[in-house]
Amino acid sequence: MSVVVKKKRPICPKCGHHPSTCLCPYLPKEHPGTLRRSSIAILQHPHEARRFNSSVRLLSLVQEVTVLTGRRLDQIQGTDAKIWLERIRCGNVVLVYPSNDAVGLEEGVDEYRSRRKRIADGNFEGRGNDDGVVLFLFIDATWTHAKEMYQYHVRCGIFPPPPSGEKNGMIRVAMDPFRGWTPTQFRPSRFISIRCPASGSAKKF
Ligand SMILES: [Zn+2]
Repeated sequence: MSVVVKKKRPICPKCGHHPSTCLCPYLPKEHPGTLRRSSIAILQHPHEARRFNSSVRLLSLVQEVTVLTGRRLDQIQGTDAKIWLERIRCGNVVLVYPSNDAVGLEEGVDEYRSRRKRIADGNFEGRGNDDGVVLFLFIDATWTHAKEMYQYHVRCGIFPPPPSGEKNGMIRVAMDPFRGWTPTQFRPSRFISIRCPASGSAKKF
């Protein structure tokens, strides 16, 4: 009886890609950069943590990010999760998630900064973020899991409703890739001189 040993697909231990598409030569030689005016944490579903070529893995090679792996922030062990829970409790974290009540990124950051000013002036409940950086929390999961994770944190009160009036809350922002884009700006043939036709295609441009 012959035993078929399935060969493992080789992957780069650093970037997690196949050696033929290894991205390491293009990564910064120095250690990951640090954001000066913002700080990022990613609540990562355990399934995503098992993926070798995840974008979070790549991001953490170029940028300092805090990765909190688990479905539920309040059940993740370690100091980082506790720090971020406390930051959320104090109203200092902007959640990047496209919920119905999410606002645009700029609007969310403006609200965050004006809130900090109102806290400093004593006109708003909550505690300010002393180092002045904007703290962003992302969710890394499939859409189905991200929705589950989001709803869990809302149900438990970890993600309080968005701010209203003088009431503290958690600002949600949605990234809009088409922000500022208008149909008149779209010029489909602007790359015509540099692109090659698809193989086997006799398509006329
Ligand atoms: Zn690599």
